[in-house]
Amino acid sequence: MINSDRIKEILTKKGADLCGIAPVARFKDAPSGFHPLDVFPDCKSVIVFASYFPLSTLQAKTNSPYTFIRNMMVDKLDKISFQLSIELEKEGVIAIPIPSSEPYDYWDYERQHGRGIISLKHAGFLAGLGILGKNTLLINDEYGTMIWLGANLVSIDLEPDLIATYQACVSKCTLCIDSCPQNALDGLTINQKACREKMFTYSEGGGLVLSCNICRKVCPHHAGLYK
Ligand code: SF4
Ligand code: SF4
Repeated sequence: MINSDRIKEILTKKGADLCGIAPVARFKDAPSGFHPLDVFPDCKSVIVFASYFPLSTLQAKTNSPYTFIRNMMVDKLDKISFQLSIELEKEGVIAIPIPSSEPYDYWDYERQHGRGIISLKHAGFLAGLGILGKNTLLINDEYGTMIWLGANLVSIDLEPDLIATYQACVSKCTLCIDSCPQNALDGLTINQKACREKMFTYSEGGGLVLSCNICRKVCPHHAGLYK
């Protein structure tokens, strides 16, 4: 019998460090076109999970280690959502896997602004995995900002998790906003165009390097809220 506990057991075995479940009714404020029901009209629950992103990557003097681990995290979370789909289909449940990064459909060329088919960060918040910080990252009480997210949209009602109530941002903290070399953060949103100009460095020989992670690195919660 498939239920929330069984799903979390499967996810943990596949390598997730955090799992939460949000009923689709919690997504009433999702923007039109990016609601789980826009992706899957029979969606009843959204399963969100995350894996720990090694903190050591922030200590290197080059961002190549951060970049290759980020690429591995994308692959790892995508594999988990793929495997969860297979497991749930065996139980007669439809389980749409959501890409943990690309691909996605929406792209505004002028603003250099992309959007996932649903917002994983907001889904993570609604599933109890954390609170959005001023750096626009999801902050979890145990792992801080060092998590990477994945999700599946499923066709069954499941026992939901409580939305987190802890405080994410330290009172009056503006470290991420003040440290961003592109002034891309305003405390609520990110100017993706400005961020992308700094973030992506490409060379023909060396490939793509994610050249900035300052807003993650300066956050006192990069190692968790209570460490
Ligand atoms: S990654 Fe860098 S450029 Fe982008 S918002 Fe964070 S600090 Fe700013
Ligand atoms: S650096 Fe400060 S303001 Fe920015 S997300 Fe972290 S706690 Fe919040």
